[in-house]
Amino acid sequence: MAREALESGLYDTLQFPFSSLSSAEDLELAREAREKDVGFIAMKALSAGSSRTPLRPSPSSEATRASCRSGASRGRRSSTIPRLEASPPVLDDAMRVLIERDRAELSGSFCRGCGYCLPCPAGIEISMAARMTYLMRRSRFELFVTPEWRAKMELIEKCTGCGGCRKKCPYGLDTPALLKTQLAGYRELAR
Ligand code: SF4
Ligand code: SF4
Repeated sequence: MAREALESGLYDTLQFPFSSLSSAEDLELAREAREKDVGFIAMKALSAGSSRTPLRPSPSSEATRASCRSGASRGRRSSTIPRLEASPPVLDDAMRVLIERDRAELSGSFCRGCGYCLPCPAGIEISMAARMTYLMRRSRFELFVTPEWRAKMELIEKCTGCGGCRKKCPYGLDTPALLKTQLAGYRELAR
């Protein structure tokens, strides 16, 4: 759909999930946007919190910024983000190591938190629940061991297996299976 939108010539901008974990195909899309002079807006640039990207500046968040910047937006780049443009990060070997580590860990079946699979008839907050163990390991653990989150995660047991989420996931994830894995990991971590 993104490629179709790009090739239609109808749009000035394209918003697309884009991060340091993006595939070669995604990078190609960003290059095509640049060639066609279509603004490319990186959506979920921090991989919805799954990559090693704390919100404050750090080597890892700089790696994500440098990666997105070098991959997509030369030409029209983020002049509206003065701080980034004042001292733009440059993708270096140390950053590449961090990115490769994230890719090795998250390649394949990782939920980007886009929420396209919602709503779930069982009320499961899929876009959070399907990446819970990553969130717990990479952000503030204590936010997710509350009674509220324990109850929300246990809702996964109510999954009817309707498959609605799997059909809607643009990343081809086996979402019900992923949720079960995440619930097992959550119970282990939250003990
Ligand atoms: S398969 Fe389970 S998680 Fe997915 S939409 Fe159906 S009930 Fe919800
Ligand atoms: S399971 Fe797929 S559609 Fe649902 S939030 Fe995750 S990546 Fe998005």
